[in-house]
Amino acid sequence: MKKFKISPFTKTKITFTLWYSLILFVILLAFSGFIYTLETQDVTRIVLLRDYGTNVPKQLTNEEKKEIILQINEVKKSFIIDLILVDDIILLLGAGLSFFLSGITLKPIQKSFQRQKEFIADASHELRTPLAAIQTASEVALRNGNKTKEHYKKVIEQTYRENRRMAKMVDELLTLSRADTEMTEFIFGEVELDKIIKDVAEETKPLLLQKKLYLKNNLIEKAKVKGDSNKIKQLALIIMDNAIKYTPKGGNIQVKVGGKRNPYFSIADNGIGISKEERKKIFYRFYQVDKARSQGGAGLGLSIAKWIADSHKAEIIVKSNPGKGSVFKVVFNS
Ligand code: ADP
Repeated sequence: MKKFKISPFTKTKITFTLWYSLILFVILLAFSGFIYTLETQDVTRIVLLRDYGTNVPKQLTNEEKKEIILQINEVKKSFIIDLILVDDIILLLGAGLSFFLSGITLKPIQKSFQRQKEFIADASHELRTPLAAIQTASEVALRNGNKTKEHYKKVIEQTYRENRRMAKMVDELLTLSRADTEMTEFIFGEVELDKIIKDVAEETKPLLLQKKLYLKNNLIEKAKVKGDSNKIKQLALIIMDNAIKYTPKGGNIQVKVGGKRNPYFSIADNGIGISKEERKKIFYRFYQVDKARSQGGAGLGLSIAKWIADSHKAEIIVKSNPGKGSVFKVVFNS
């Protein structure tokens, strides 16, 4: 038989509802007691007024007294019944409302919990690929049989490559998990965008040369923004790295910096490009347009880039034509 399972969030909602209802019950009890005392104080006078008007006889017979006591008890009883009825309705409405409101309160926590779960599942899945590659290569190398020096060299190279890939992924995962828990401290100061972009172009030169890509007609004007220079450099490196990765051999990349009111930098390539539908998704975690062409990435670079841009209230604008190339422009508010 299938076991009926209540999610932790429904359990929390029920617990909240029970607590709220208990508080409401105590308040209603105190309030009803107060109203009851207040309202029944005058009940004898009201009953006498109702039965005799202003001519209440000085001496009442035993029969009349009994009748009046009976009537008083009757009034009190019906008042208690009314109070219980009203209290029940309020309690029921209160419980329903608190169940509904605790649901609304818990919604953002539930969403972020769900995101964390997906994030962990995706991360484990992505880490399994390089781990499996290392495992298989080592098993083959360890198996008996005459292996050449070349073979071992290949295995070591592959292990090294996969290790680097994993190390990069773990670094990215750490960055994002720190971003989620707001543990990263940004050191804001005056940042010279032109200098940063020149540094990025310089640092990525070996990669450009390796892929026979050319930096052409760079237009670098002076531009200053308030921000964390290391983080902005990381953002530019991610975009530059992608431009290099997704541009075939012999292609070119153009870097621009400028803007007085809204300083910006942009990196344009004439690579594979991104379709309109994909452009919306490339900033999602682990999203890759074509896994086979990802060249070692895990689809986390642009999520980090977006987080850095958001933290600077900057915007990343992507223009692209499949087969023709892409432009990633980061615009700051000065
Ligand atoms: P990855 O590690 O796969 O590069 P990113 O988050 O940096 O992950 O990028 C997400 C996806 O966006 C990439 O897999 C790629 O498909 C696409 N992309 C990013 N930059 C470019 C670019 N300049 N040209 C073409 N596609 C790009």
